[in-house]
Amino acid sequence: MSLDLLHQHLRDIPDFPKPGIVFKDITPVLRNPAAFRAFIDLLEERYRDARLDAVVAIDARGFLFAGALCDRLKLGLVPVRKKGKLPFDSIHEDYDLEYGAATLEMHADALEPGHRVLILDDLLATGGTAAAAIALCQRLGADVLECAFLVELDFLHGREALAPVPAYAPIHVRDEA
Ligand code: AMP
Repeated sequence: MSLDLLHQHLRDIPDFPKPGIVFKDITPVLRNPAAFRAFIDLLEERYRDARLDAVVAIDARGFLFAGALCDRLKLGLVPVRKKGKLPFDSIHEDYDLEYGAATLEMHADALEPGHRVLILDDLLATGGTAAAAIALCQRLGADVLECAFLVELDFLHGREALAPVPAYAPIHVRDEA
């Protein structure tokens, strides 16, 4: 039931942001309170007993879900941001995009050794973004239990880039079309 609701509120935008890419638009999920709550309910249920210390949220759509989840689980939120956005001392990790490269940053004091964290973003594609977030967490000594997403594009095999950290997503897109 909640999976149907989530499926119904994902919108395909062909050729965005460039030709050949089918962009999975999550804004209908954000706009629909029942769909939004359905995703947060799934996350709350899955991680309620995981003894997490923090949720690490990826810039920018990961932030939208992480705030709600952190409130439910009474956890702190650690933002991972694109280069140049964080105001305090930061560590950074470069990663590859489909064309070119990018950099993610995290505050150097955001996590402590042994902290158990969940990484959260809206969508898993090639896995480069989440893999960079894993590397940032691990450089601060944290233990990444899992990476969670609303949507996984199975045909890009992004979960292989995250291994041995497991990936979870309620919605799977099996084919490119
Ligand atoms: P990747 O690093 O390839 O796993 O890409 C994941 C990041 O890019 C996430 O933060 C997504 O929001 C975004 N992204 C990549 N591909 C898509 C897509 N087809 N639709 C929506 N967002 C995407």
